[in-house]
Amino acid sequence: MALMITDECINCDVCEPECPNEAIFLGPEIYQIDAAKCTECVGHFDEPQCVQVCPVACIPINPEHIESRETLWERYRRLTAQAANPPSAS
Ligand code: SF4
Ligand code: SF4
Repeated sequence: MALMITDECINCDVCEPECPNEAIFLGPEIYQIDAAKCTECVGHFDEPQCVQVCPVACIPINPEHIESRETLWERYRRLTAQAANPPSAS
């Protein structure tokens, strides 16, 4: 399941550097999560790192992106393969 950031976000900047997939970015008003990159930290950590550090607990599961653990593992493998072989370098 990808996670999402709600409008309770206070833009504290704490979560963005913690994401191993660089899925968190600052949107027009608050931080957002790119569902195509979020693996719920599967492959990297046992718990979602952004949820661990968020001081206002505003990062729930994204109901539009309910995904199986297998799907998250596939995403993790694809993202790490891309990181090892960026398209621009090939
Ligand atoms: S759950 Fe993990 S991968 Fe998803 S946005 Fe949070 S830190 Fe990034
Ligand atoms: S840690 Fe929580 S409050 Fe801080 S920027 Fe991230 S989502 Fe927003």
